[in-house]
Amino acid sequence: MSMSVMDIFETMAYGPAPESTSTALAWIEERQPFGLFINNQWVKPVSGQYLESINPATGKALAQVASANSTDVDIAVAAARKAFGSWSKLPGHARARYLYAIARQVQKHARLLAVLESLDNGKPIRETRDLDIPLVARHFYYHAGWAQLMASELPGYEPVGVVGQIIPWNFPLLMLAWKIAPALAMGNTVVLKPARYTSLTALKFAEIMQEIGLPPGVVNIVTGEAPQVGEALVRHPDVNKIAFTGSTDVGCSIRRATAGSGKKLSLELGGKSPFVVFDDADLDSVVEGVVDAIWFNQGQVCCAGSRLLVQETIEQPLIRKLRARMEKLRLGDPLDKAVDMGAIVSPTQLQEIQRLVAQGVAEGAEMWQPSWACPTEGSFYPPTLFTNVSPATSIAQVEIFGPVLVTMTFRTPEEAVLLANNTRYGLAASVWSDNINLALDVAPKIQAGSVWINCTNMFDASSGFGGYRESGFGREGGKEGLYEYIRPAWETASYELLLIAERYKDEVEKVEDDETISHDGTVGSLPSIDRTPKLFIGGKQVRPDSGYSRDIFNAKGQIVGQVGEGNRKDIRNAVEAAHSAKGWSAGTTHNRAQILYYIAENLASREDEFARRIVQQTGRTYSDAFEEVQATLSRLFSYAAWADKFEGVVHRPPLRGVVLAMHEPMGVIGIACLDAYPLLGLVSLVAPAIAMGNTVVVVPSQQSPLSAIDCYQVFETSDVPAGVVNIVTGERATLSLVLAEHDDVDAIWYFGSAEGSKRVEFASAGNMKRTWVSNGHDRDWLNVPQGEGQEFLREATQVKNIWVPYGE
Ligand code: NDP
Repeated sequence: MSMSVMDIFETMAYGPAPESTSTALAWIEERQPFGLFINNQWVKPVSGQYLESINPATGKALAQVASANSTDVDIAVAAARKAFGSWSKLPGHARARYLYAIARQVQKHARLLAVLESLDNGKPIRETRDLDIPLVARHFYYHAGWAQLMASELPGYEPVGVVGQIIPWNFPLLMLAWKIAPALAMGNTVVLKPARYTSLTALKFAEIMQEIGLPPGVVNIVTGEAPQVGEALVRHPDVNKIAFTGSTDVGCSIRRATAGSGKKLSLELGGKSPFVVFDDADLDSVVEGVVDAIWFNQGQVCCAGSRLLVQETIEQPLIRKLRARMEKLRLGDPLDKAVDMGAIVSPTQLQEIQRLVAQGVAEGAEMWQPSWACPTEGSFYPPTLFTNVSPATSIAQVEIFGPVLVTMTFRTPEEAVLLANNTRYGLAASVWSDNINLALDVAPKIQAGSVWINCTNMFDASSGFGGYRESGFGREGGKEGLYEYIRPAWETASYELLLIAERYKDEVEKVEDDETISHDGTVGSLPSIDRTPKLFIGGKQVRPDSGYSRDIFNAKGQIVGQVGEGNRKDIRNAVEAAHSAKGWSAGTTHNRAQILYYIAENLASREDEFARRIVQQTGRTYSDAFEEVQATLSRLFSYAAWADKFEGVVHRPPLRGVVLAMHEPMGVIGIACLDAYPLLGLVSLVAPAIAMGNTVVVVPSQQSPLSAIDCYQVFETSDVPAGVVNIVTGERATLSLVLAEHDDVDAIWYFGSAEGSKRVEFASAGNMKRTWVSNGHDRDWLNVPQGEGQEFLREATQVKNIWVPYGE
């Protein structure tokens, strides 16, 4: 008996193991043409038009889905707005029950969902069954937990409101889950647009909403095309947040379209992720890793390991093993359970892959594909390997979004890091070495939101996912993902903001006739010693490039001093200095805390002088100014305290291993300060940024910049390394725009007018830098919950998740 089994093992080729499609096809047949899902009801699209959804494995029509237009979007948004009132007020426990019910129901319909997904997208049933759908359920369970805990774990936060969500076709139901679960958990309501090619699982999901009795309007699904539905959603004035996953180009246009609107935005964009193999890695595991990295989902994965970076000495043996493995990959009917690779989502996407591969060949790289042929019907493309690739060519730089791997070699770990970071993207990376010291040394140096050590394409709801650089901003999953769907309560209460503005106005008027105004900083009747107006760049006081200075006036219109007139060149120099100082982030958090305390100490010894300077510029009372100085000292203490306490967490996803969620600095942050508090405003922004290891280029208050100038000496005497803080005085609108447009600035914070906020957000789209703008709203900077704390620290950091499996 055992002999014959052995015989079978020796000779047996795979036979087909088709999954039945009859239930799924009957489900489609009974319902099509599909309507839109609004207010828990199926409604016809206003246009009366429908689109065909095609099975990419056969090229044949699968279903008719509604083609919505902007009127349908209006109706859906109105439904979501209406539902928001009661949904957001439900106790967290009630929302947790709904999310739990969704997770359960997804599991009950798992097989139907898996088959529908394979039919509609072309991905193998093995993947939809074992990965997509289980992860969808896990996402809803995990977020049911956050709904339950919201009140206790996120006190003082509120949902943002109606959320517009736009998802791609590569993981249709999983991307829906990544979007809907956190939105609902935090009390938002949703209008979701599936990708045009892949709406079916979203429509089955809509049915699940009905089955569990979700209140009407909480989730609305509007199918159709980008110009009619996606753009309408992005521009809709009653949508409070847009969450998008897709191409970097579209992400960029959404950034521009939402600039200045006050809409929250999260973007999960493209990638060209490195797969780094050191010479001591286990090559057989590496080969399986590569299969998962680039042939999983036919390479249509935003975090696909599409650049294989190999240590030179092992290139030949690895390529040999890889080709042998490619020869054995099975490509074909996605519904065949024994198939490794299915179909490409559409003929257009297939042509794009073919075009880029042809370009790679024309550029001189060596292309290799297995000897077997692809099915002729439907959209299929074989696994493809490029060697002899030069790092600057298009196949090495452009996201192909297909089963195409390019190989490059390196000699040293330093070279590996350089090559890995030689991309405009920063979504993910995978590092292979049996030396955990080396792997954990390299992981933080690669600019990417997820780093997988000796594994790849691992996802879990507990561990946030999202990009660095042009791969976008915001995270999905983990606690960090929740902040994309909430706001501090004080921020939403706009009437309160108005009250604050009112109060401030009263105070200024009061000061006008206050006798303490005589404390104007002048010393007796002697003229003060003339100061040459300078900027602070690279740790030095330097003259402005323009050679001009600008007069500074007090509240009564009298000249109280001068500052340098900074220009584009000064900003560029300052950014360069900030870049050279990036070693700041490598220092210990203890050291950064020490320096922040030291700044406070040196400022305190001159508190009277700083208070007088505030009086001189603003005409506020001395006691008021003194209070600002004391608040500044307290703020410095707060961030000195936070410097070594805003730590990451260790996640325990369902695997043998851990995920280290590390808070990493953004890099270089451009900061445009507010006018109201010349000193506190500056320190409230600079301190959290540098506490977290960033270096900064600051444009201080335009009206009252003299307090910033006085800080030069404080920084110089407080062991702040050269280039960590750079200050360029001058016209704030122009200078902050230069910062927003600068490709080497990683994030920009702008506290100023609504119009200025809009310009900064628009300009930031150039390199998709993260922005934090005030949209013309002021906050109460003296009030601790508004003026300092974790909101600032989160803006100063990005989370990197390092996956470390263990066990032999
Ligand atoms: P898109 O970025 O165009 O599409 C993603 C989603 O956005 C779809 O729902 C799409 O609608 C919608 N959309 C498109 N344009 C707009 C717009 N101006 N405003 C609002 N919504 C819009 O990706 P494609 O599907 O066209 O794929 C093109 C390339 O993008 C791929 O080859 C790949 O390189 C990359 N990509 C990256 C993904 C990722 O996960 N990072 C996912 C998908 C693609 P519709 O489907 O109706 O066009």
